[in-house]
Amino acid sequence: MRRLMPALAIALVACREITAPRVGTPIRPPSAYTAWWSQVEACSGTQGQFELVRWYESPDGALGPQIMGEWLPRHDVYLVTFVVSHQLDATVKHEMLHDLLHGDSDHLSPTWTICGL
Ligand SMILES: [Zn+2]
Repeated sequence: MRRLMPALAIALVACREITAPRVGTPIRPPSAYTAWWSQVEACSGTQGQFELVRWYESPDGALGPQIMGEWLPRHDVYLVTFVVSHQLDATVKHEMLHDLLHGDSDHLSPTWTICGL
C-alpha cells in the first residue's frame, strides 16, 4: 500500500479537468515518446495511434498549481516545460494512457495501477 502512494501522488498532480483555454505551443514529440507509447500500449493491453496525438508545451504553472500535464479530447496532450525538458516519462506516459483509454479522467480503470501510472 505504501508503495502505491508515490504513484497515486503523481497521478493526482499529473492532470485535471478544467474548461479554461489552454496555453501551449505545438511541439514535435521527442523521439523517446514513441518507445514510451509502445510500453504503455503493452501494459494496458490497448492500442492507439501515436500519430494522432497532438503535443503542446505549456509554460511551467500555466496548467495550474502543480499540474504537470493534461490530456484533452480527442488527442491533445499539454505538458509543462519542466516535463518536456527533463523527459519525465511518468507524466508523459500518464497522459498517453489517457489517450489510449479515450479519457477516463477519474482514473477508474484498473489499468492505471497495472501500468503504475
Ligand atoms: Zn490523469
